[in-house]
Amino acid sequence: MQKDISLEDKTKYLFDNLSKVTNITTGSWFSLKEINDIANQVTQINKLKRENDALILAHYYCSPKILFGVADFCGDSYALAKKAKEAKEQNIIFCGVTFMAETAKILNPDKKVILPPMTAGCSLASGITAQEVLALRKKYPNAKVLCYINSSAEVKAVCDTCVTSGNVFKIVENTKQDQIIFVPDLYMAKNIEAYLKNKGIKKEIIAAGATCCVHDKFNLAQLNDVKNKYPEAKIISHPECLPEVCKNSDFVGSTAGMLKFVKESNAKIFAVFSEWGLINMLEAQNPGKKFIPCGRICASMKRNNLNNIESVLKNLTDLQGVILDKNLAQKAKQAIDNMFKETENDR
Ligand code: SF4
Repeated sequence: MQKDISLEDKTKYLFDNLSKVTNITTGSWFSLKEINDIANQVTQINKLKRENDALILAHYYCSPKILFGVADFCGDSYALAKKAKEAKEQNIIFCGVTFMAETAKILNPDKKVILPPMTAGCSLASGITAQEVLALRKKYPNAKVLCYINSSAEVKAVCDTCVTSGNVFKIVENTKQDQIIFVPDLYMAKNIEAYLKNKGIKKEIIAAGATCCVHDKFNLAQLNDVKNKYPEAKIISHPECLPEVCKNSDFVGSTAGMLKFVKESNAKIFAVFSEWGLINMLEAQNPGKKFIPCGRICASMKRNNLNNIESVLKNLTDLQGVILDKNLAQKAKQAIDNMFKETENDR
């Protein structure tokens, strides 16, 4: 969505898109009355945003009311980090989870960065500490240390390079070292091992951390059930899923990668093993294609809503936003900058 379009056009954009997607609360389409009610609040928020020199960034897993109503830019972690880095506005309202708002602050430290729910956890980001990473570094002194972007600023600060689900395979493949410490996604680590094995590349992956409490719930039985019921469906999954789910999928990739795959595919039915917000974006972008609702919900992402966005915009001067120690932020920035450098020509 373009930032400088008129409020009337923004409302039209909301109507056009919300009328094509499923309301996860009711399981049916948004009614005209529901959209009208949402439009009033959306107009108010968009006015406040302009008056307060604010930019709203939203992850695809947020509610479609945010994605189509008030966000200036929607994206996955990688695209949002780039947008945050380039932001000119004094205030960045980041609709996502805590590690994403921290990343925005690391990349653009002079801006006020506010997460509307103030804190919103992620099972991956809380799955490992900087001390645990330092202990691994000590044990494997020759290993390159990669952290998934879903990690705290403290963890990023003690890693060599940050990665996202969109570039992790490429970065691992291009890594010269034979040993790689990868944190904090244990299933993604297994999927990296499978990828390297397929390519005949020998590297040792030393993994530590946790799993995504949304993607780790998908399993092979569910996938086979979908395949039996919808044999013509293409199965797409995120690399945070179990290795057997990824292995049996037609496409495995980042959120942006899945959106691209569906757009370019001639298939008409897709089973999406990822968060429901992505299904809403797929529905809006692909009228005529059907999406089987096996999506799960990230409760933390859904804590961003129009009410707390409006409240943040009304109280901007009183809110401090994300605060990070300067030294720590600089070290964490090095890991993120290394990711941008190592993927310069890819996206
Ligand atoms: S979907 Fe998983 S990885 Fe993404 S924010 Fe939620 S818990 Fe974290």
